[in-house]
Amino acid sequence: MQPTGEAHLGNYLGAIRQWVELQEAPDAPEAFYSIVDYHALSIAMTADQLRAWTFDMAATFLACGLDPKRVVLFRQSDVPEHTELAWILATSAAMGDLSRMTQFKEKSEQNRDNVNAGIFIYPVLQAADILLYKADRVPVGEDQVQHLELARELARRFNRRVGFDVFPEPQPLLSKVTRLKGLDGSAKMSKSKGNTVALSDAPDAIRAKIKVAVTDPARLRRYDPGHPEVCNVFTLHGSFTAPLNAARYAEIDRDCRSGALGCVDCKKELADRVVEHLTPIRERLEALRAKPDELEAVLADGGKRAGEVARATMEDVRARIGVRPSR
Ligand code: SF4
Repeated sequence: MQPTGEAHLGNYLGAIRQWVELQEAPDAPEAFYSIVDYHALSIAMTADQLRAWTFDMAATFLACGLDPKRVVLFRQSDVPEHTELAWILATSAAMGDLSRMTQFKEKSEQNRDNVNAGIFIYPVLQAADILLYKADRVPVGEDQVQHLELARELARRFNRRVGFDVFPEPQPLLSKVTRLKGLDGSAKMSKSKGNTVALSDAPDAIRAKIKVAVTDPARLRRYDPGHPEVCNVFTLHGSFTAPLNAARYAEIDRDCRSGALGCVDCKKELADRVVEHLTPIRERLEALRAKPDELEAVLADGGKRAGEVARATMEDVRARIGVRPSR
């Protein structure tokens, strides 16, 4: 995940919560989670901002429940092998493939004054992030599947080039939460658009944001029948109410359709659930933000553990392509 701002509901529901569930599973896989600060350089920000957001993201991961003793949690720039492998993979990445990446088109649109080559080769660095650890599964949202397909293609090309299966082809582990719309009804939740709830928002701020969330546009009057399947508030009930009380979730669906439940009450109920869920996370986040030394120690330890795996992979990669031998 890129350290480009404060984590919000989209990051939490679309990724972090699923990582924590994976960690808690009885057959929890060995897992690597990286704060990708090299990726973040493709967006203009100062060194101080980048350092601050990197620490903030580390604090967020820990506050949400990732345990650095059970997973490897590290800062990408602590493992320089990421950029080295990215260059090697770039030499077999087709310009045509990269220019077809939907996210390249989207990001170029959003950053018209800074369409840099980093945005263009971003998916190659992402492929390196994955292949360096010979990952067999990558938890992704639907919007990242295209990049993962490219990583698979780059793994195949590298293996063909050296005549040996160095890299497995990583499979997507799709997020259970489909892409969340913004609270304003726009296509994506994003901090910059102000259409989401930050994990550090106080209860009053959460309530105020949910109160004005866009719902089913067909419900013009209080008793109009609703269509929960098109309502983002209902999608959020799926993440916050359904896991606690499946029967209540079914009632919301039924009462929305019949018109018995009004949007004001439905949103109040959602706000209660979200506040209840996020309060302990916010409290832990505030405590961790005050401990940069502790965060640095966690990142340094993770970097050491990730580095051991990455160095072993690169020894093999270098030997097979004929660049500098190990000393
Ligand atoms: Fe959405 Fe709830 Fe209103 Fe139905 S009642 S449209 S689920 S906010």
